Amino acid sequence: MDNNCPFCTIDETKIVLRNETCFAVYDIFPATEGHMLVVPLRHAPSFFDYTPEEISDVWALVSECKGLLDERFSPDGYNIGMNLGECAGQTVFHLHIHIIPRRIGDTENP
Ligand code: 5GP
Ligand code: ZN
Repeated sequence: MDNNCPFCTIDETKIVLRNETCFAVYDIFPATEGHMLVVPLRHAPSFFDYTPEEISDVWALVSECKGLLDERFSPDGYNIGMNLGECAGQTVFHLHIHIIPRRIGDTENP
């Protein structure tokens, strides 16, 4: 638990999906409509800091998010991934998986 971490101090009412060890929320600065984050409850910066059980729960929740987003937004595809380390673009040092819905043509007029 880190009191300065936005995911350790997340507003519970913002949680959309959860399981035993992680939760999912909509990103406050979405890259595209429906951008979600899957976050383990335990505070650690890297994917490689988590147990196999936690990682299994992370991917289970990623799949649930995909189902929810398919239903809600019917995107044409997804970018799913994570930034590990400041040089890789990580700005919040509590692991989170980005689930970014994509639509055909959405990069044509950046
Ligand atoms: P990173 O750059 O570390 O891979 O991504 C951090 C992400 O967390 C960004 O997309 C940013 O918009 C999001 N974010 C930062 N603070 C909060 C917050 O308090 N709540 C939510 N839902 N997302 C946040
Ligand atoms: Zn944290």
